[in-house]
Amino acid sequence: MGKPTGFKEFDRKKVPWRLPVVRINDYDEIYTEPRVDHLREQGARCMDCGVPFCQSSTGCPIDNLIPEWNDLVYNNRWKEASERLHKTNNFPEFTGRTCPAPCEGACVLGITDPPVTIKNIENAIVDRAWAEGWITPQPPENRSGKKVAIIGSGPAGLAAADQLNQVGHEVTVYERADRIGGLLQYGIPNMKLSKEAVQRRVDKMTDEGIHFVTGADVGNNVDPKQLRDDFDALLLACGATKPRDLPIPNRNVDGVRFAMEFLTANTQQIVHGDSLGDGFISAEGKDVIVIGGGDTGTDCIGTSIRHGCRSLVNFELLPKPPEQRAEDNPWPEWPRVFRVDYGHEEAEAKFGRDPREYQILSKEFLLDDQGNLRGIKTVEVRWTKNKAGAWSMEEIDGSEKEWPAQLILLAMGFLGPEQYVAEAIGLEVDPRSNFQASHGKFATNIDGVFAAGDCRRGQSLVVWAINEGRGAARSIDIYLQGSSNLPAPGVTMGTAMEVSPIS
Ligand SMILES: Cc1cc2nc3c(=O)[nH]c(=O)nc-3n(C[C@H](O)[C@H](O)[C@H](O)COP(=O)(O)OP(=O)(O)OC[C@H]3O[C@@H](n4cnc5c(N)ncnc54)[C@H](O)[C@@H]3O)c2cc1C
Ligand code: SF4
Repeated sequence: MGKPTGFKEFDRKKVPWRLPVVRINDYDEIYTEPRVDHLREQGARCMDCGVPFCQSSTGCPIDNLIPEWNDLVYNNRWKEASERLHKTNNFPEFTGRTCPAPCEGACVLGITDPPVTIKNIENAIVDRAWAEGWITPQPPENRSGKKVAIIGSGPAGLAAADQLNQVGHEVTVYERADRIGGLLQYGIPNMKLSKEAVQRRVDKMTDEGIHFVTGADVGNNVDPKQLRDDFDALLLACGATKPRDLPIPNRNVDGVRFAMEFLTANTQQIVHGDSLGDGFISAEGKDVIVIGGGDTGTDCIGTSIRHGCRSLVNFELLPKPPEQRAEDNPWPEWPRVFRVDYGHEEAEAKFGRDPREYQILSKEFLLDDQGNLRGIKTVEVRWTKNKAGAWSMEEIDGSEKEWPAQLILLAMGFLGPEQYVAEAIGLEVDPRSNFQASHGKFATNIDGVFAAGDCRRGQSLVVWAINEGRGAARSIDIYLQGSSNLPAPGVTMGTAMEVSPIS
């Protein structure tokens, strides 16, 4: 424990983001450079609790050794802090930028005071480690002679590849997209996670001996059965890429698009400079409506604002969350409270109001005389809880409303993995259409075939994908060698926000 009285002396202060009015003019990361004295003070707030709920229980899914690195930061021992951080997390710069930080929801200080700024400290440690040149390629000294193929290069596939390579297996990652990273590349926008940060890790992993193959759509232009024959083990880390649709009248009109189409095209053209022609979806000069909240909705808001949209509204089906934890949402659960994310802040700065409208049900996309999208018709809904505690929704008579829109983005979550790989190899799926494999073992019904990440657990978080990739790597290592020195995955209980039906 760095400073026994730190939690009494210092208030929680987050590292500020760049000012909204400034950052909406570019696609650079929203973060500012943290000051060392600021971070040391924030690290000093950690109480080094006997039972650190932040790194267990409902806290960090990869069991990051949080009190240890808080102490090391307070004592200015940054290199050691980076070493401790990398013991449990292959990619702290991804989580340090994108994680909703369930650790902070479980921080013991949070029972009475605002929690420690754990995520900021994690991010600062790894950024400093890169800047100082402490993170360098570390190829394994010996090779096992075993070969593993990984399908999908999101955080689950990358974490598994990193772990398996470290213990000497020869790893090849197959990715159908033209760039590596899964949703870290095409999904989470540059403002939140720069594509340079993603590429820097991929380059390091390449230098350590991992092979990456892009444009390899397994089940279409690569035969998964052949992969199973050619490799000693196969890991499916294909993500949950089937978007939830909104089948209301006029759904097929041109101006209604899935969030991922919009965000992917944006990263390809604006960040990477690819020329997409008509494939680019522009929000410039348009009234934009984003249907659905969560990270995807926020990213659509931030991106539309940078395009120069004329107006912006965000529909949420559920009621506005409370400002403070509700009675049925006690510590150390993830606090289901009202939050202002970067996109909401930016909408407020640009249009003078938070863009969110709650308890709104979409009824019909509206067309003009030429058949173009001109808006959407909605109705307000009321949520009530019955005696058994189940929620039901009813429409409020007379609350119908028409909203103008020339671009409507659907950000209503994902329904599991696409099924063509599973069908091609006879893989069993669970009732939610996820690839069937238990957490901890990650083995599917096919010998030598494993599954991890969103394709196994359903739409979730970067940190959970890392948890699963690390766990699957250990299971594969045991399958190949009979035992493993790789760590077992964290056994935290999961968090409410990852199962939100509309995030
Ligand atoms: C817009 C958006 C924003 C998000 N923001 C956050 C955030 O801020 N914080 C957070 O924690 N989580 C966020 N998430 C969720 C997080 O990104 C995912 O939970 C995480 O990326 C899942 O990792 P994964 O490796 O399982 O799958 P993915 O990242 O989805 O990667 C799967 C990869 O597999 C590839 N693939 C699929 N099928 C095949 C095939 N047949 N052959 C070859 N390749 C294939 C896909 O192209 C993809 O690249 C966000 C999600 C979205 C959509
Ligand atoms: S990975 Fe997420 S939960 Fe774990 S310490 Fe970092 S911010 Fe917290």
